[in-house]
Amino acid sequence: MAYDSNNIFAKILRGEIPNQTVYEDEHVLAFRDIRPQAKAHVLLIPKGPYESFEDFSARASDAEIVAFTRAVAKVSRLAGIDVTGYRAIANTGADGHQEVPHFHLHLLGGQRLGRMVS
Ligand code: 5GP
Repeated sequence: MAYDSNNIFAKILRGEIPNQTVYEDEHVLAFRDIRPQAKAHVLLIPKGPYESFEDFSARASDAEIVAFTRAVAKVSRLAGIDVTGYRAIANTGADGHQEVPHFHLHLLGGQRLGRMVS
């Protein structure tokens, strides 16, 4: 499926919609989720046009993948959840309930999370 450049995160990347930025570099942007599901809820996205985790892992350059992976620790520190712990989730496709078709990693923490059952 072709990447939809009208998705909400593409608009955030173009500066058309404001966001609460936590971290940004050449390859990634991290910002607060608009409907937080934990006391700390940050979304980490690549700047490139990748629809899903599948798409990112298949098509992104090594530099993009390294930058994204390294950004996780930077973002967790900036969000204050590196020591206490967090959950990283990438909802993927229809069964994974992915709503926004631009790859994103949810980082959830700032509180004791429940066990993941589904
Ligand atoms: P998904 O279900 O695709 O994994 O999660 C999409 C996430 O994007 C949801 O947690 C939702 O709250 C968040 N979201 C949707 N629209 C916006 C927006 O305009 N700004 C921000 N910061 N988050 C958004």
